[in-house]
Amino acid sequence: MIEQIKQALDAVKDPEIDSVSVLDLGMVEEVQFENGEAVVKLLPTFIGCPALDIIQKRVEQVLSSLEGIERVTVEFINSPPWTSDRITDEGREKLKEFGIAPPPKQMGPNGEWQVECPYCASAYTLMENIFGPTACRSIFYCKQCKNPFEALKPISTWM
Ligand SMILES: [Zn+2]
Repeated sequence: MIEQIKQALDAVKDPEIDSVSVLDLGMVEEVQFENGEAVVKLLPTFIGCPALDIIQKRVEQVLSSLEGIERVTVEFINSPPWTSDRITDEGREKLKEFGIAPPPKQMGPNGEWQVECPYCASAYTLMENIFGPTACRSIFYCKQCKNPFEALKPISTWM
């Protein structure tokens, strides 16, 4: 049953980036199933932050349609803290396909973000504006292919 629940959770996408699921984002910390009740523990991300109630409703919807599940409980927990390192490799690929650079995994020697262009993979990029269309994204410019693009801000223990 746990496996079925996890598969079903893959259908719960980020409300803003509809190819990336809560699993891809590393938001699912724990899944429990007992006596017809599914309990899903999620770590809130800065990505889903304004949309946590939407995510909660979608999880409830998707899981309550599974056979054998009578009740769905969604809990948001803050420990362990979510970091952008939890985004899976698959999730990082999907972000790139969406035209959004995944958060950098480490900082450069001068404390700058090392962000690769999602279009041409060049590291020759420049931050244009730390404030993008949403609080979690920044605008970058690729000096290689001359495209502007968005990058997810990193949230990590190294910050
Ligand atoms: Zn580029």
